[in-house]
Amino acid sequence: GEAYWGLGVTDVVEKLKPRLVGEDPMEVDRLWTRMMRLMSGPGSIAGTTVAAISGIEIALLDLVGKHLKTPVYQLLGGKFRNRIRIYADSHAESLRDIDAWQERALQVRERGFDAIKFDLDTIAPELQLDNYNRTLTNRAIRRMVEIVRAVREVLGPDVELALDCHWSYNVTDAIRLAQALEPFYLLWLEDPTPPENAEAMAQVCAATSTPICTGENLYTRHGFRPLIEKGGCHIIQPDIPRCGGLLESKRIADLADIYYIPFAAHNVCSPVGTVASAHVCAAIRTFLVLEFHSQDIPWWDAVVAREDDPLIKNGYLTLSDKPGLGVELNDEVCRQHVQAGTLYFGEAV
Ligand code: MG
Repeated sequence: GEAYWGLGVTDVVEKLKPRLVGEDPMEVDRLWTRMMRLMSGPGSIAGTTVAAISGIEIALLDLVGKHLKTPVYQLLGGKFRNRIRIYADSHAESLRDIDAWQERALQVRERGFDAIKFDLDTIAPELQLDNYNRTLTNRAIRRMVEIVRAVREVLGPDVELALDCHWSYNVTDAIRLAQALEPFYLLWLEDPTPPENAEAMAQVCAATSTPICTGENLYTRHGFRPLIEKGGCHIIQPDIPRCGGLLESKRIADLADIYYIPFAAHNVCSPVGTVASAHVCAAIRTFLVLEFHSQDIPWWDAVVAREDDPLIKNGYLTLSDKPGLGVELNDEVCRQHVQAGTLYFGEAV
């Protein structure tokens, strides 16, 4: 599995180890429930604890799949699709002038992606009057529109374009921004207002035809319920290996599907978490697109030993029918990239 992102994730995994050793790994949902109950004191509503339990759950499902000689997507109800559509996160700190933005957009399109995401909130920091008050100046909105127009121009009308705001703005300015971007037919505008207030996000959603997408830092079906029930997003974006794991992500997708909300998965994982996410994306009806955050890391693919190369081709990830997740770690490559001061499965590198 992949248990990631958040200080202390490995500590939680170690803490749970004695409670899991000797258990029947086939009873995935019972063990998940047991881990969540055991960790309710330290906090199993959200954060590091849920991320750690999610990683263990992914490993259990890989084990069950191997034991039953079947891919993980079969354990989730079977697949709707073989190929998982991928979008490329394409942010780059160096994008300061319009030419650089256009060049980057073309580079990503030439790599075969027909859906691309950029960070929007970093476009015009020098045009902001204040770093903390969540406001957008007219100048900043104008600059954002200018750059988005230029990117749309080189991409053409049919490459899908998403833009991320990282929870930056107040409701009024988020609405002004979303409306100003309506002519560009975005795939979505991501996290325009802070993440903890579904009612505020719902006000933005109700005021614009630009699709609003959110959810990357929410956890479990309970974390997503207010957002879904209050109309706080047009597209839901769970981080599958962090929000509760594979079965919980399917439950979140099913909850959102009651309101016909599409599912776009947030993902900044290694190939292990990415492929685990892809199994869920195959097995839910409402899947839209899965994120790829590592297009500029040359050794990303080599983390897993596999026959086909690379894992993502022309904007798609095709799941194999091998048992479990269908990928195995390449120990040699992994050892080369172990974080300084940490161990590789208990061994020094
Ligand atoms: Mg984001």
